[in-house]
Amino acid sequence: MRPRDAYAEPYRIKMVEPVRQISPEARRLAVERAGYNLFNLSSDDVYIDLLTDSGTAAMSDAQWSALMRGDEAYAGSRSFARLRRVVADITGYEHVAPAHQGRGAEHVLMMTLVRPGQRVPGNMHFDTTTGHIVLRGAEPVNLLRKQGYEVKSEEAFKGDVDLKALRTELEENAAAGRTPFVLMTVTCNSNGGQPVSMANIRQASELAHAYGVPFIFDCARYAENAYFIKMREPGYSQKSIKEIASEMFSYGDGCVMSAKKDGLANMGGFVAFRDEALYHRALEWVIPFEGFATYGGLSGRDMEALAVGLEEALDEAYLEERIGQVAYLADLLVDAGVPIITPAGGHGVYVDAAAFLPHIPQKEFTAQALAVELYLEAGVRGVELGMCAFGTTDPNSGEPIGPALELVRLAVPRRVYTDRHMAFVARAFEGLAARRDSIRGFRLTYEAPVLRHFTARFERI
Ligand SMILES: *Cc1c(COP(=O)(O)O)cnc(C)c1O
Repeated sequence: MRPRDAYAEPYRIKMVEPVRQISPEARRLAVERAGYNLFNLSSDDVYIDLLTDSGTAAMSDAQWSALMRGDEAYAGSRSFARLRRVVADITGYEHVAPAHQGRGAEHVLMMTLVRPGQRVPGNMHFDTTTGHIVLRGAEPVNLLRKQGYEVKSEEAFKGDVDLKALRTELEENAAAGRTPFVLMTVTCNSNGGQPVSMANIRQASELAHAYGVPFIFDCARYAENAYFIKMREPGYSQKSIKEIASEMFSYGDGCVMSAKKDGLANMGGFVAFRDEALYHRALEWVIPFEGFATYGGLSGRDMEALAVGLEEALDEAYLEERIGQVAYLADLLVDAGVPIITPAGGHGVYVDAAAFLPHIPQKEFTAQALAVELYLEAGVRGVELGMCAFGTTDPNSGEPIGPALELVRLAVPRRVYTDRHMAFVARAFEGLAARRDSIRGFRLTYEAPVLRHFTARFERI
C-alpha cells in the first residue's frame, strides 16, 4: 500500500452536508436522555458518526444522475434489467433477485435452501445471517482459523476458514444431508472486516464441491476483499479488481449481498445464483416477502444507483483511498498508544476497550463505557461490540458471561469523511487517555430479550 500522502482522494467534493459539534454540556444531556445507549442519540447531536459503514456511503454524481432514469415499473423494470446485467457481469451469476437489504436476501437464501436440523458452516457468520439460520431451526457453524481471533497479528488473511475443520464438518454431515451449503463471508465482518485469501476461497470451494455441497458468498464487502488480495496475495498484484472478483465468484454457486456496503448505495441487496432452477425456488420467497422478481423491495431509482455504485466500488483508486483511510486512522491510534486489533480490516478500526480501560471489569460494560466517553469527549459515535452486544447469562448461576473481546468499533463510512476527521478522532482518544482512570462502568436498567444492544438503557456505577 502506498503511503497516505503519495496520493489524494480520487474525487472532488461537490455537495456538503453541514455537521456541528454540540457543546460538552449538550452532549452530557443528550447521552443521559439516551440512557447511555448511543443508538438512541439523534444524529444531529453527533459530530462524526462512525456507528456503521452500512448504508452511509456518499453517492457519486453519476449515482445521483442515475436516480432520474429509474423507472416505476412493477414488472419488467428496465432499472432492474440494468442492475441484473451489472451483477451478472461482476459475479457471473445470471439469475439475480433484488431484496430490500442484505437480511432480506439472507431470508430468501435460508428459506430456499436450509431445513430445520441442518448445519451451515462458514468462516464466521454475520449476526443477521446467524439469526436467519437459527430462525430456520438450523445451526450456524463458525470455522474461522484460530489466527483470525488473535488481537495483535501480522496475518494477512485473518478471515480464512480452517480447511481441516471444514473437511471434518463436511465429512460428518454432508453425506447425511445435513449441510445445505458452505457460506463464505468476504470480508469477514464479524472479526473486524478481515480479508479471505483467494487460495482459501478456492480450497474451501473445492472441499464443498467434493462433498456435493454448494458454495455461497456473503459478499457485502467483496470489492474490499479483492483489494486486499491484490495488495497481499502473491500472484495478484498485476490483476484488476474486477478480474480478482471474477475469479473469486467463479469458485461459487451464488451469493447474497447487502448492497449497503460495497454497493455504495444507501439501501438494497440481492441474491444471485448460477443455477436457474435454484433461482426459481428462491422467487417463491422473494415474491411474498420482498416484492416482485423485478423490484424486490427496491424502487427503480434505488436499483439504478446500486447498478452504478457496484461498478464504482471496483475502481482501484477508490479502494486505495478507502482502505488507506481506515489504515490511516489505525496508524494514528497506534501512535497515540491506543490498543486496537491489527492489522486493521477493511471497514473500520476496532479498539480493545479492555486494554484501554483495564480498571473496568467486563460485567460493568467496559466497551460501552469507552463508547460513551468518546461521545462525551468529542461528539464521536462508535459502537460497542462487547458485553452488551454479545454477552449471555449462565443458565445455572445467572452470572453474566462475556465475549472473548470487549471492543469499540469505529466504522468508516465510504467517501464521507476526510483525513482531518480521522485525525480529530485520534486526538479525541488522546484526551480520553489523559483521564482514563476516572472513567466508570455501567449497569443495565433495561434490556430486550434479543439483540439487546440496540435498545438497552444504562446507569452509571
Ligand atoms: C451488513 C451485513 C449483512 C446484513 O445486511 P443488511 O443490509 O444490514 O440487512 C449481512 N452480512 C454481512 C457480512 C454484512 O456486513
